[in-house]
Amino acid sequence: MPQLDVVVVGDGIAGRAAAIALARSGVSVGLVRQATSSGVDIPETLAPMAMPLLKRLGLDLDRVDQTFPRIVSRLSRWGRGRMQRNDMLPRPTAALLLGKQRLYGLLRSKLGELDCEEFDVEQVCDVRPTDKGAVLRLRLSSAPAEQEIVGRMVIDATGRTSAIAHRLDVRRRIYDSLVSFWIVGKAGDALRQATVTATVDDGWIFYVGTDAGQGALGFFTAGSHISGKPTAASIVERACGVAEIAEAITCCSDWAASPVTTRNAATTMLERPCGPGWLACGDALQTVDPLASSGNLIALKQGLLAAEATKAALFGDQTLLNAYAVATRQEFREVLAHRSRYYGLRS
Ligand SMILES: Cc1cc2nc3c(=O)[nH]c(=O)nc-3n(C[C@H](O)[C@H](O)[C@H](O)COP(=O)(O)OP(=O)(O)OC[C@H]3O[C@@H](n4cnc5c(N)ncnc54)[C@H](O)[C@@H]3O)c2cc1C
Repeated sequence: MPQLDVVVVGDGIAGRAAAIALARSGVSVGLVRQATSSGVDIPETLAPMAMPLLKRLGLDLDRVDQTFPRIVSRLSRWGRGRMQRNDMLPRPTAALLLGKQRLYGLLRSKLGELDCEEFDVEQVCDVRPTDKGAVLRLRLSSAPAEQEIVGRMVIDATGRTSAIAHRLDVRRRIYDSLVSFWIVGKAGDALRQATVTATVDDGWIFYVGTDAGQGALGFFTAGSHISGKPTAASIVERACGVAEIAEAITCCSDWAASPVTTRNAATTMLERPCGPGWLACGDALQTVDPLASSGNLIALKQGLLAAEATKAALFGDQTLLNAYAVATRQEFREVLAHRSRYYGLRS
């Protein structure tokens, strides 16, 4: 039975950041990964404040800069207000346009330089807290027999599934029923490396234009506002009501033929961020409104904070864990206040 100081479960941004930070600090760490089929790779952004965090993880920032283009323009129209345009120059203040798979690739190759055992699993079957940490029972992809691994601390970085917290019976509070529907298609130069957010009758339209003549359209709405999945054609119709987007999406029939990908976009938070032998970070801890484009930065930041707090706990110092719990709750309260201002939503 492998015994490690820390087992990180989940290999998104939060999990990889935590695993890299721990491995760099000399702690024995294992990363539990689960293959997922996520459908369309929706272009997401990464706030520029992420750059110093990526540097702390040992990533070469020149390489990051060469890998990801920057968003050069953000347009937004909330409610009945006017369209606001924010052209984001100079470069250090502009968000990076991901390529999430490419970001994973950079993090994966950094982790590959370090000492970190990786486990490919079909499922985490059980989590059993003990006085020395936690025992995880895993069904590995490579073998039918279940295997146990022991971590003195376990980090739950499993995204919205919160697989570890769930097994420990920690509930998630759900603040709204926001859901998003995505289509992709060809786009002209009008909104290259740009995003547009606009309120429509029954929700919000979000457009992102990549640097490669492509774009993605997301329709966000409260689950209670719609019955069933909207068609691609109806999303195009909503988007074409926004003049700036209508100008960018060159071939409507191409967009209308796109498959529609559904993504849960609800704001949620675990009732407890940590407990004896475990803590949660990134989407496993809280999910924030995607239109605020801050989830990736939060995941990165919390991955690093989780690594620091976990390492201190291994040496018997609980103060950073307590500080982590306070800071993450405070940050989430700020997210809720921000969200209420934009959407006029109440929790
Ligand atoms: C529609 C949409 C658009 C968004 N756009 C943006 C944006 O533009 N900018 C931004 O900053 N944020 C955006 N976000 C938020 C952002 O995607 C997330 O906040 C961020 O990716 C969270 O990273 P994470 O590592 O915490 O979780 P995830 O990326 O969800 O990673 C979790 C990992 O855990 C793995 N896993 C799950 N269960 C298990 C298990 N049982 N065992 C092992 N592994 C497991 C999964 O396979 C996955 O690899 C968006 C979110 C949505 C829904």
